[in-house]
Amino acid sequence: MVLSVGRLDWITEELENLKKQGLYVTIRKLQTAQGPWVVVDGKRVLNMCSNNYLGLAAHPRIKEAAIKAILDYGVGAGAVRTIAGTMELHEILEDKLARFKRREAAVVFQSGYNANLGALSALGWGRKDLVFVSEELNHASIIDAMRLAGAPKVIYKHVDMEDLKKKLEEVKDYRIKVIVTDGVFSMDGDLAPLPEIVELAEQYNAIVYVDDAHGEGVLGDHGRGIVDYYKLHDRVDFEMGTLSKAFGVIGGYVAGDRESIEFIKQRGRPFLFSSAMNPPDVAAAIAAVEILEESDELIKKLWENTHILQKGLRDAGFDLGNTKHPITPVMLYDEKLTQEFSRRLFDEYNIFAQAIVYPTVPKGKARIRLEPSAAHKPEDMKYVVDSFTELARKVGFFK
Ligand code: PMP
Repeated sequence: MVLSVGRLDWITEELENLKKQGLYVTIRKLQTAQGPWVVVDGKRVLNMCSNNYLGLAAHPRIKEAAIKAILDYGVGAGAVRTIAGTMELHEILEDKLARFKRREAAVVFQSGYNANLGALSALGWGRKDLVFVSEELNHASIIDAMRLAGAPKVIYKHVDMEDLKKKLEEVKDYRIKVIVTDGVFSMDGDLAPLPEIVELAEQYNAIVYVDDAHGEGVLGDHGRGIVDYYKLHDRVDFEMGTLSKAFGVIGGYVAGDRESIEFIKQRGRPFLFSSAMNPPDVAAAIAAVEILEESDELIKKLWENTHILQKGLRDAGFDLGNTKHPITPVMLYDEKLTQEFSRRLFDEYNIFAQAIVYPTVPKGKARIRLEPSAAHKPEDMKYVVDSFTELARKVGFFK
């Protein structure tokens, strides 16, 4: 077979361009289970960058549930759920999630990304009488979902309720208006002002869709999420969540009223065209929900660690922005300095904490994003504060 020479040269050029622009992502290799301390590239380091908020990713009860499910149901779901994939396990998980979120029904997807893609594209699919009113800093999966839906959209400025009102006024003649927002903003840890959003939604007869990926397991009674935190149960239409962060597994879901969830099952493309969650993942997620329902001990530990870390860093003089969540953005502003800081934390202090730079955040707003967990010890948090302070002096960030 003769391959035409140079067909893929442009990919090599693109990779070189990414490297030149400092946008090439280096992926580190984890050689142990997710946890407070991990082995990365052969070195034992303090893990400060996983979304495993409650330490459930390697929890003994969850591992046992997954092993049992493999023995009972095997490893694969077999197909998409409408053809061969709905096992009783999927339905048990959906019922549990609906109860946990205090909603009528829930539908699970293979990931949080797919949950947004499925739900928003189902709602908006090709409609010209529907408009998305979307928050400026919404997660990429929401942006992709709206593109897939193809319905019109307007963007309102980050947590700016005057701008939201203005945008709702502009689109008030659409029959269906869907306000879409992250509950917790993943790079800053600030919260969407949901009570005000809901007020405006009621004024303009708009649907409210909240992505609670970072809220569940962290905010609200027993980690029921941001809607529970603000006590807005009957006033938010859709709560999307992921099973990959606080729940420690993989998968995503959308909870809401029975008919809306049925509609998403009928129309959600990742539900219809991508094979279902695997049995061990489903069983692990069921065990995670049960753990949260039974006790809020882990959530309390997470918040204790968060307070030690954030108070320590603020007292030392670091700017953590407006976080109201364990997500802890340590603002270093300059891209190069932030990259160097992250590298030296790893090399000199055995701390694994990734630099977040443009284009994930705006230019000049580079940061190290720390994520404490319930599995860390208070001493770990103090070690992070001391290390950050010492390194900030070494690199001249603190005079
Ligand atoms: N929404 C938000 C706000 C997220 O942070 C993420 C994960 N990065 C997702 C959705 C997607 O979730 P998953 O990783 O389960 O696909």
